[in-house]
Amino acid sequence: MALLRHTAKRVVSLSRVLSKSGYTSRSGAEQLIREGHVKVNHKVVRNPSYRCAMEEDVVTVDGKRLGKKDCVYIMMNKPAGVVTTRSDEHMRKTVYDILGDVGRYVFPVGRLDKDTSGLLIFTNDNRFGERLTSPNSKVPKTYRVRLDRQMKPQDILVIEKGMNLMNERLMPASVKILDATEIEMTIVEGKNRQVRRMCEALGYEVRSLTRVKIGGYYQRDLGPGQWKYLSKDDLEKLNSR
Ligand code: URA
Repeated sequence: MALLRHTAKRVVSLSRVLSKSGYTSRSGAEQLIREGHVKVNHKVVRNPSYRCAMEEDVVTVDGKRLGKKDCVYIMMNKPAGVVTTRSDEHMRKTVYDILGDVGRYVFPVGRLDKDTSGLLIFTNDNRFGERLTSPNSKVPKTYRVRLDRQMKPQDILVIEKGMNLMNERLMPASVKILDATEIEMTIVEGKNRQVRRMCEALGYEVRSLTRVKIGGYYQRDLGPGQWKYLSKDDLEKLNSR
């Protein structure tokens, strides 16, 4: 009987049920379960791998039933000097210090490194996050880059053809000249410190780096360190080109 019930339903681990609901991260879920905060069908379960039927079993955390996931979308204008991590072992200021408690576990979509500022999205919607970051979706991300000198036309050509970086082939990117030492570079993948490494590999020093646009959304509304919930209109722009 039990087997029948479990073959017909979507059965996953209890920790996954909690993280999928947007209540907390996977590791946060494991801790809550081990500490005895979580009940399945009114009985405490301390095993994070306990198999659970997502839509059917009644799961509570400290007596509160997990609801259907409400997706949250947030945009921040990250200042330079702040790290994109939940907690930092060197006690540096993090993006979560700026965000505060939004009542949900949200994760950053495509990190920005400490010295980079600009548009950073947070959500608890895994599918949306994957779509924005996957190189297969080719969602363009535009960065404003201040260099130590003017970028040469032959270097722009290298970037636009798709350059090699430490034996790794990069997809073609585009470059727009803004002034003598500032460019806008648009990339469709998000490798670690990609824009900095591309410029440095061509012999330039990056003086400042700001992400200004994702998809069709150009960030102009928020000052450094400000954030807001995204409107439907903002989300449509993010999803467009
Ligand atoms: N490229 C970088 O070099 N840094 C970032 O934070 C994002 C893209």
